[in-house]
Amino acid sequence: MFIATRVAGLEALDEFLPHAGSAYARDRNHDLGASRRAVSGLSPYLRHRLVTEREVVGAVLERHTLGAAEKFVQEVFWRTYWKGWLEQNPEVWRRYRRDVDRVADEGVPAGYDEAVAGRTGIDAMDAWVRELVDTGYLHNHARMWFASIWIFTLGLPWHLGADFFLRHLLDGDAASNTLSWRWVAGLQTAGKTYLATAENISRFTDGRFSPAGLATTARALDEEPLPPRTPVEPADVVGAPRSRVGLLLHDEDLEPESLLAERPGLVARVTATAVVADPGARSPREASAAVVSFTREAVDDAARRTPDSDGRPARTLPDAGSDTVVDWATSEGLDTVLSPYAPVGPAQERLATVRRALSAEGIDLVTVRRRWDGEAWPSASRGFFPFRGRIPELVRQL
Ligand SMILES: Cc1cc2nc3c(=O)[nH]c(=O)nc-3n(C[C@H](O)[C@H](O)[C@H](O)COP(=O)(O)OP(=O)(O)OC[C@H]3O[C@@H](n4cnc5c(N)ncnc54)[C@H](O)[C@@H]3O)c2cc1C
Repeated sequence: MFIATRVAGLEALDEFLPHAGSAYARDRNHDLGASRRAVSGLSPYLRHRLVTEREVVGAVLERHTLGAAEKFVQEVFWRTYWKGWLEQNPEVWRRYRRDVDRVADEGVPAGYDEAVAGRTGIDAMDAWVRELVDTGYLHNHARMWFASIWIFTLGLPWHLGADFFLRHLLDGDAASNTLSWRWVAGLQTAGKTYLATAENISRFTDGRFSPAGLATTARALDEEPLPPRTPVEPADVVGAPRSRVGLLLHDEDLEPESLLAERPGLVARVTATAVVADPGARSPREASAAVVSFTREAVDDAARRTPDSDGRPARTLPDAGSDTVVDWATSEGLDTVLSPYAPVGPAQERLATVRRALSAEGIDLVTVRRRWDGEAWPSASRGFFPFRGRIPELVRQL
């Protein structure tokens, strides 16, 4: 259903454009099942930056005024906001990873296996499990209901639900996923939970589901206080020109043309390009076959779109290990590897290891952050509402 190419993403954008104004504001909360007409379905493309936030918002605003498309533009900025927030609170990701790792060692709690097999007896939950596993996608409202029922009706640990999503969603993303689950659980906005009700589910699924026996209260989870937030770290400064520069693309950003266009001086210096992804790093458990194949196709697509200065297609590296990256860099005789900045999450962890391994060979790793992220992330220091107030200004700037 989702074809992992930039062309397919741009076609999906084009098809959705007429609906991005008042129709989206009116209908977006309706989960109409597989037909999915009310929402864009762009998240797998945005997640991997096969298509960028800037071009989605740009195309929408060529067609609609900001007033008419305000809701849609705000939703795109939710992705940016979550990334910027997690960037300033990386401890949240570290704790999430630690908890998922620990449960993987200790075994899963009672009820988990039935829940992920779609055997809870709650018809809606069981159908959403099947939809998620079969398609790699769930409507936003279904994700909210699912997370709420998982936590408050089934009494399962939120981080295991988040892990299940991350392993199956084609758009599985460290920031949007972890922080949305925390929001439902009452951790993200401390004390404020999201309670799914049968009435709301029935109304917004056009009566397809009306589950009985759902929790009627949702007591917020609690946690150790978080350390003070850390300001967004500056991306690497691109230093003096060096002789042989390679570009290393990864699954957080597979659109190099617009990335390099922001730094025109760099393009001429790139002599080799490689693309790498590691969907397995999403979880200590296996990522779904659909996620693995979407990511692999997305990487191949980026490689085809990114010939180097001699016209050679980019190399697709067989794995994301440091040794593999170092072998590529040394075989190309590189002294600098440029890479899109990776936000907090598995790719950032991986790049930190790669940086050390390259450095041991005298090769610099330089990360390049898009203006979109650089301008917006620092404003994601508090709740979404103050951030939302900056959207018109950000749209003008970006
Ligand atoms: C529990 C839970 C887990 C989630 N996990 C993920 C995840 O792993 N990856 C992910 O990309 N999104 C996640 N979301 C956010 C949201 O559900 C999806 O981005 C959205 O459903 C994607 O469908 P769409 O492209 O048709 O959205 P549209 O409604 O067409 O929105 C357009 C774009 O805006 C962004 N967007 C919309 N809603 C949100 C939102 N609530 N938060 C962040 N960005 C948003 C997405 O980039 C999306 O493609 C999660 C939400 C919840 C409640």
